[in-house]
Amino acid sequence: MFQLLLKRYTLLSIIILVSCASTQKAISQEQNKQHAKHIILVGIDGFGAHAFEKAKIPNIREMMKNGSYSLKARAVLPSSSAVNWASMLMGSGPELHGFTEWDSREPELPSAKLGESGIYPTIFSLIDTQLPKAKKGAIYTWGGIRNLFERALVDLDYNGETDTKTIEKATSFIAEEKPVFTFIHLDDADHAGHEIGFDSPEFYLEIEKIDVLIGKMIATLEDKNLMKETIIILTSDHGGNRKSHGGKTLKEVQIPWIAYGKGISSQGEMDSVIVTYDTGATIAYLLGLEIPEFWRGKPVKEILSSK
Ligand SMILES: [Zn+2]
Repeated sequence: MFQLLLKRYTLLSIIILVSCASTQKAISQEQNKQHAKHIILVGIDGFGAHAFEKAKIPNIREMMKNGSYSLKARAVLPSSSAVNWASMLMGSGPELHGFTEWDSREPELPSAKLGESGIYPTIFSLIDTQLPKAKKGAIYTWGGIRNLFERALVDLDYNGETDTKTIEKATSFIAEEKPVFTFIHLDDADHAGHEIGFDSPEFYLEIEKIDVLIGKMIATLEDKNLMKETIIILTSDHGGNRKSHGGKTLKEVQIPWIAYGKGISSQGEMDSVIVTYDTGATIAYLLGLEIPEFWRGKPVKEILSSK
């Protein structure tokens, strides 16, 4: 009798173990799922959420209508450029990656972790390690971006003189090379903000030009049948107050965060609390990559239709 009971218990334990293992496998398969073949991160320098009240941006509004977005996402402090671009790509805040100023070329505070390339690992390094065959590119109008990612790891590293050149180069790179990840940085609106004001007609004119460029890029990708397999995340590094930023007003700190494309829910505005370093984590999640323990960003999973 005792032996029979023992056998039954052993059998039961095996059944439980096997079913746990298969649930575990299912969870990890879900976590490792690549949600789209191409992810494009469009970062518009100085494009604060406050600008959405007046800006004539039909293409970006179409993405918002058919996607998921927040106009209450936040920059990290200080609300300056390099600090925030680094946080976006490095999935962590300045206290960990160490880039703390508007034009940091190297960390003023030693990075808490260094990757093989000698800097705090970015989304490019995660892709390089976990999807070694995947192509990736960084195309940027502000040269300061070049210090904030592993330049040796990308298939295209291009500093455009104007936003038009940057987007045109990015569009042909995506169409021809079909990269898994493309980072596009646009800078012309931030220049107008600093020269004339972040609430000036000149600033809105630059934003409107950028909207047209984004519309053209999406139309080209649709023509080439690539949008079906593409997710675009559009955001900014910070906003602006009068002619500057770096401070603690919501005009400087609140940024747009828009997801649009394959598998993205068309729920419109979300309640989610989003910080700039969640962008890197979301891209990693959408590509099915394992997020390093030392990253602090969380994927914005609410953007997916299945949620
Ligand atoms: Zn900036």
